[in-house]
Amino acid sequence: MSVFEHPEFDAHEHVAFYSDPVTGLKAIIAIHNTNLGPSLGGCRMWPYLNSSEALTDVLRLSKGMTYKAAMANLQQGGGKAVIIGDPRKQKNEAFMQAMGRFVESLSGKYITAEDSGITVDDLKAVATQTSHVAGTFAQYNALGEAPTGNPAPSTAYGVFVGLKQTVKHVLGSDLKGVKVAIQGMGHVGFRLAKQLHAEGAELYVADIFPEGLARAQEELGATVVAPEEILTLAVDVIAPCAMGSSINDESLPDIRAKIIAGAANNQLAREELGSVLHQKGIVYAPDYVINVGGIIDIYHQKQNDSSDTAMREHIAKIGDTLCEIYERAEAENTATNLVANRIAEERFAK
Ligand code: NAD
Repeated sequence: MSVFEHPEFDAHEHVAFYSDPVTGLKAIIAIHNTNLGPSLGGCRMWPYLNSSEALTDVLRLSKGMTYKAAMANLQQGGGKAVIIGDPRKQKNEAFMQAMGRFVESLSGKYITAEDSGITVDDLKAVATQTSHVAGTFAQYNALGEAPTGNPAPSTAYGVFVGLKQTVKHVLGSDLKGVKVAIQGMGHVGFRLAKQLHAEGAELYVADIFPEGLARAQEELGATVVAPEEILTLAVDVIAPCAMGSSINDESLPDIRAKIIAGAANNQLAREELGSVLHQKGIVYAPDYVINVGGIIDIYHQKQNDSSDTAMREHIAKIGDTLCEIYERAEAENTATNLVANRIAEERFAK
């Protein structure tokens, strides 16, 4: 298994492999870039088929974190950890403590947090061995809810600010009467809907489960639409807040909205679809720029001198970043996702 020749290797600063024979832990930490500060990124536990698959994931995800941190104006770099194994079968306190010793061995160049398969309790076990952990307790909340450590309220607030700014930029209006179709009424989608409703947007919502839909219908007067129709509606904005790759070769030709602005990660099935959207005159808010509120949240929860207001103000900067992207994309006649990548690279370059 090669590292330097790996297709996902992109001048990563440090890739570390760790095994603990006592607990059976096998993990990899990749630090992509620390020019802006120590690397931050979640720890994912997944039953990878082999270490090669885990390496691919950690190289790709850690690079993505460098771009996200740069776009969030954080003095932080990008890193990620992956644990090879089934989180339902192999995890216990000693196992996570071994992970803590691995994190500690990197002397703070990597700060770990939650990701798939890892809970706050797991992180608490990690934190017995290292102080380089984020997300074990919460003291602030962007939407005035009780702080629980769930970053979804901050993500939803960031998507709301970004969507509002995009509407202003593209349509020259506020949100009153603007038609927004939201795909996914989960933790982020519902909170986004609530904020949009408060500013007079007309909502269309879809989900594959009924709970969130019923709330949106009853509390926000949203129109419920079938999942296969939500992206095809004649609305102003579509907000993908479900799974990745919702903008793909099949769905894209049917999109009639002028704006795509939502929380889901990896919305474009392929990067090149950003250029197709640009040619069609559809303004796409790059996913890793508009959905970065959760990372800003994790960052602020670790500061002893922050506040709910400071966190909200930081998240609200997503609007300015998006405007910078749109203006450059127009001036250079190019896709917004490509401009976003370039701005991030400028920010984290030495
Ligand atoms: P969630 O699981 O709470 O909500 C997702 C919702 O989408 C669920 O209700 C699910 O039933 C629904 N869904 C799945 N497939 C669908 C389909 N085909 N059509 C319609 N609905 C469908 O997740 P979340 O925390 O709300 O996150 C939403 C998205 O935003 C995810 O892609 C996530 O990776 C991304 N994201 C979330 C955060 C965060 O802080 N939670 C941060 C950054 C990015």
